[in-house]
Amino acid sequence: MAAAASAFDDLVARLRPCRRIFVLTGAGVSTESGIPDYRDADGEWKHPRPMTYRQLLASAAARRRYWARSLVGWRRIAAAEPNAAHHALARLEAAGRLGCLVTQNVDGLHAKAGSRRVIDLHGRLDRVECLGCRTRFRRHAFQLELERLNPGWAERAAATLTPDGDAELHNADYDAFRVPPCPRCGGVLKPWVVFFGERVPPPRVERAFAALRRADAVLVAGSSLMVFSGYRFARAGRQLGLPLCLVNLGRTRADADADVKIAAPCGEVLPRLVAALVAEDPRSASRSRPGNGDGRAHRRRRADDAPPRRRPRVAGARG
Ligand SMILES: [Zn+2]
Repeated sequence: MAAAASAFDDLVARLRPCRRIFVLTGAGVSTESGIPDYRDADGEWKHPRPMTYRQLLASAAARRRYWARSLVGWRRIAAAEPNAAHHALARLEAAGRLGCLVTQNVDGLHAKAGSRRVIDLHGRLDRVECLGCRTRFRRHAFQLELERLNPGWAERAAATLTPDGDAELHNADYDAFRVPPCPRCGGVLKPWVVFFGERVPPPRVERAFAALRRADAVLVAGSSLMVFSGYRFARAGRQLGLPLCLVNLGRTRADADADVKIAAPCGEVLPRLVAALVAEDPRSASRSRPGNGDGRAHRRRRADDAPPRRRPRVAGARG
């Protein structure tokens, strides 16, 4: 454990002076919430590849298959709770140390943990979008309608689940599955997520790059960076001369470029890291705020210690 301990000390030392950490998260932060990862320790696919955008658009049969499997998978995603890694990143933000949290995950667990400066790079499964009129709806209402139109499906057990809420169903016949159209225009509905083969909307990418240019370090957590839409931020951070820190169980595409890499679960590393960075030791906290039990004064004081800076709002996904 000596090597691991020194890598952790190195991680803390590199991030300690930083006040605008750019955090990029991937499926590895959600595995401890019961949402599986796409890739194994070598960065290889664990599951059959997800449906592409082109396949989804190509036929009503593909969309029946997608929504039938999603009807089952969404129930598990919706029931998932944030884990220690999500909570740690929310604390980092509350302590005024986070510039921006860009996530490749579509499970919404960062928001559920209380993070606000989130850019949902690949969208979120809890919203549904119409390809015709571009209206966005809440998934919850759509799910109820799907379940109403397709009695019996919700009770099916999934063989496997993927991070995008796709549940593998054995011996399923999708022909009779009914997918409701957009209630506003009758158009085709799609989850508000970026499919494989689909482009991340450029304004969203630009918001993330703008946050990166204001950042003083890059911390990648739970991502193999195999997908370019995430990898480009690690690469651009290096080009900007920012420290690059990686926390991921398996190999990542940026291992060779990293200043420090810790191969351990995010749920173990991030809470310890954030505790070290914001000095949440209960003894020091109680010393610094006598008679104040809610912690806000402590956090405010720490934030005031930081050099003044503009904090443009980058929080929140669209809509
Ligand atoms: Zn519509």
